[in-house]
Amino acid sequence: MTPRRDTVQQRAIRQAIESAGRPLSVQEIFETAADEAPGLGMRTVYRVVNRLLDDEFIAPVSVPGMADLYELASVAEKHHHHFRCESCDRVFDVDGCPGGLKRMLPDGFTLAGHEVSLWGRCADCG
Ligand SMILES: [Zn+2]
Ligand SMILES: [Zn+2]
Repeated sequence: MTPRRDTVQQRAIRQAIESAGRPLSVQEIFETAADEAPGLGMRTVYRVVNRLLDDEFIAPVSVPGMADLYELASVAEKHHHHFRCESCDRVFDVDGCPGGLKRMLPDGFTLAGHEVSLWGRCADCG
């Protein structure tokens, strides 16, 4: 018995996100998954991405000036930051955190969180 088309498409989408090693846009998920699931459409990608968000299998990543990206929830829960290549528009995870940001706050302020966005050119783009 061949698996249902829907199952093949869902698996291809999950695998695209799992194997990327960096946050992906819906367009990138579509391009990667379409190789494994011919006939895949963007509407299906959006539907499956929303289900994976509901299931907390993936988490949204917001990078200034870009549409939402998605990464595995298991990656998202470990504090990290992102780098956007201005040449190819890909976004990568970066290790480490500058930390010590509480020092920037005026007296009496409480820090609840922070985001740090890096950008430039990736190694492929030189
Ligand atoms: Zn690049
Ligand atoms: Zn940080």
